[in-house]
Amino acid sequence: LRLEIEDAEKSRLISELTSVFAHEIRNPMQVTRGFLQLLKEPGSWDKKKDYIQISIEELDRANDVINDLLSFGKPSTSDHKKVEVCTEVRRVINIIKAYSMHQNVIIEANLSDNCWIDANPQKLKQCMINILKNAIESMPEGGTVWITCRKTEDGFVEIKIKDEGIGMTKEQVDSLGSPYYSLKESGTGLGMMVSFQIIQSLKGKVRVHSEKGIGTEFSILLPGT
Ligand code: ADP
Ligand code: MG
Repeated sequence: LRLEIEDAEKSRLISELTSVFAHEIRNPMQVTRGFLQLLKEPGSWDKKKDYIQISIEELDRANDVINDLLSFGKPSTSDHKKVEVCTEVRRVINIIKAYSMHQNVIIEANLSDNCWIDANPQKLKQCMINILKNAIESMPEGGTVWITCRKTEDGFVEIKIKDEGIGMTKEQVDSLGSPYYSLKESGTGLGMMVSFQIIQSLKGKVRVHSEKGIGTEFSILLPGT
């Protein structure tokens, strides 16, 4: 299964979403504020424990949204500099190590060096973290994620992120990157949208190979310097 994502409709939607993001954050804040107010009033402890629990869940959700969107909407090309992708991959692995260990997932990296591109390193890392996080989450029983980074003959830098997780049907792959598309119980459905937007802003390409029950491979091609 093979797909190239280049979709004007998706990018149009993305540009309309800024106000929706604000709402995504404001909503949990208002719910939590309301419950804090109620906690000041007299009432049973059992009820109050419910208020606290809902508030924690709301704040966790807001945190997920922020994490998936961290670099969204920042200026695009003005903040580009020379970035060595393998170095950034190593940083990303360090950032996500605690999470992957907790999920019983081993990350195996095969990185060369001298993979230079023009990019905002923050955004590049955000893009990889969102894809890597999904790879880890696709293996509820644990497993291995393979990451490779290399230069291609035709002047691109290729990053591959492969998992042995639940995989996707063709329809599911086609839905990747659509705002709020998520099959997870408490997913945001924003991570892929942000990653694809970042790849697009780097004039890159992404290909997704996935097989239900076998696993998924993301191949990201970014123009080298
Ligand atoms: P979220 O992770 O919050 O659900 P994302 O935008 O990051 O939102 O991902 C959207 C959906 O794409 C996920 O809910 C999942 O169903 C699917 N997906 C993404 N990556 C993978 C993967 N590596 N394996 C299986 N499914 C995936
Ligand atoms: Mg995700």
